Amino acid sequence: MSKKQVFQFREAPREMPARIPLALRQGGDWGELYGRFGEAEAKKQAGRCLDCGNPYCGWACPLHNYIPNWLELAREGRIDEAAALCHETNPLPEICGRVCPQDRLCEGSCTLNDGFGAVTIGAVEKYIVDKALDGGWRPDLSTVQRLGKRVAVVGAGPAGLACADRLARAGIDAVVFDRYEAIGGLLHFGIPSFKLEKSVIATRREVLEGMGVEFRLGVEIGRDVAFDTLLSDFDAVFLGLGSYRYTDGGLPGQDLANVLPALPFLVQNGRLVQGEAMTAGRAIAGWEDHIELPDLRGQRVVVLGGGDTGMDCVRSAVRLGAAEVSCVYRRDEANMPGSAREVANAREEGVRFLFNRQPLALLGEDRVSGVRVAETVLGAPDARGRQRAEIVAGSESVLDADVVVIAFGFQPDPPAWLAAHGIELESDGRIRVPNTGGCKSRRNGAAQTRPYQTTHPRVFAGGDGVRGADLVVTAAYEGREAAAGIVALLREAAVVAPLEILATEMG
Ligand SMILES: Cc1cc2nc3c(=O)[nH]c(=O)nc-3n(C[C@H](O)[C@H](O)[C@H](O)COP(=O)(O)OP(=O)(O)OC[C@H]3O[C@@H](n4cnc5c(N)ncnc54)[C@H](O)[C@@H]3O)c2cc1C
Ligand code: SF4
Repeated sequence: MSKKQVFQFREAPREMPARIPLALRQGGDWGELYGRFGEAEAKKQAGRCLDCGNPYCGWACPLHNYIPNWLELAREGRIDEAAALCHETNPLPEICGRVCPQDRLCEGSCTLNDGFGAVTIGAVEKYIVDKALDGGWRPDLSTVQRLGKRVAVVGAGPAGLACADRLARAGIDAVVFDRYEAIGGLLHFGIPSFKLEKSVIATRREVLEGMGVEFRLGVEIGRDVAFDTLLSDFDAVFLGLGSYRYTDGGLPGQDLANVLPALPFLVQNGRLVQGEAMTAGRAIAGWEDHIELPDLRGQRVVVLGGGDTGMDCVRSAVRLGAAEVSCVYRRDEANMPGSAREVANAREEGVRFLFNRQPLALLGEDRVSGVRVAETVLGAPDARGRQRAEIVAGSESVLDADVVVIAFGFQPDPPAWLAAHGIELESDGRIRVPNTGGCKSRRNGAAQTRPYQTTHPRVFAGGDGVRGADLVVTAAYEGREAAAGIVALLREAAVVAPLEILATEMG
């Protein structure tokens, strides 16, 4: 084992894995943009970590990963140990390594980020776990004691998968239901393959099934199976429902032909790329995910919105052969919600960014032919502390467009059966979980509130349905924490039930 060179970061610059050449991407290559590190590259990049004593990277990671520790194991070539350590905090490490906006999270807080270039934490996390899984490593559950309890997990997105993983590790049977025919939620049906190859999700499914997790797919709770059935057949339920109500912005002209909502565009296109059945459409929160996609070859495509979804739409349009792709965003570049790395990739692929432009109307007779926009300046902060985009009088202009994609984001869309079972919501439709911090002490005999427990004592929730549209890593965190709450509840029940029986028997 080589000795660590403390100042390796001086000789070895920050490097990401090689990317698919630009010409191929622009020619329609849907492969994952970043390749994989080889062993030597991974060791070199992992060896750049200073082990600075106070790992800001781990604090900035929502899962609080043990980053310097697994970087050091990777540097030493102890891959299986590194993978086991990655999984101690992160149920989906190879996925987070690919899709986290590291520039805003772990890498943004790396001490080397000031001047030398942050350690490529995400790429090493991906390397460790891919290599370990390829080599046959699997989580070791051989010493796990079975608890004899069953939990239904609704939603096979990152929140549901993280919850199921932790339940299996605690000896609890997890059955995951999803209305879609594949696992992953937005990992599969939203995020395009150039950010996350779908084979990665298939491997994760195989890992989870090997841990004893059961998937029942193509089953919508509330439509194919009643929620009551889950409550009667299982000891507890986790809701990882996501956030799917489409924000359309109410623009005049949004019903014109060739105006596409972002998620159906991505879902349908993803199906085409994967060669999946086109007939398995689903009506979700008022929109139909099965839409006719116009041929984008040679077209001028304008995408409205500057978040992750908008970036995925512009980069998909490039790969679909559009002649010109523009992204219209009402604030400036510094205030864009999308990852800076994805913005840089989009720009390199030829996307034109029009910042400080507020869309006012979509123009055209039957089909869209343009977008009327006004210029903006940033004014006073709104209730969430973000500067408002204020329209500059007399600054209107028209952008020519053959196809417009609306990517303004998503709101929660709580199903009606929640209220019918006493599961309360916040005013904006998010599922209410009174405790997102840990176990509270019992006061005045009041029932203890478990982490991510809803107002129904046997129902827990997490992910986008609880916090609003956010990130994979925060959904995984909430699934993990909710599982801890469920385990605590069911362990207590496993102890209390025999004691109650004993008390009854003793009269
Ligand atoms: C286009 C796009 C790109 C994104 N890119 C990134 C990115 O690069 N990085 C990042 O960190 N985040 C990204 N995100 C956000 C991220 O995907 C989400 O925050 C994350 O997937 C939320 O996880 P979740 O488990 O809460 O919900 P979801 O992933 O939405 O999963 C919820 C699941 O529940 C199922 N479900 C809902 N109701 C029912 C029911 N009644 N019965 C059965 N099943 C049900 C749904 O079918 C779905 O599979 C992106 C989001 C979008 C839309
Ligand atoms: S989970 Fe995301 S934020 Fe945390 S270390 Fe991995 S890439 Fe960074």
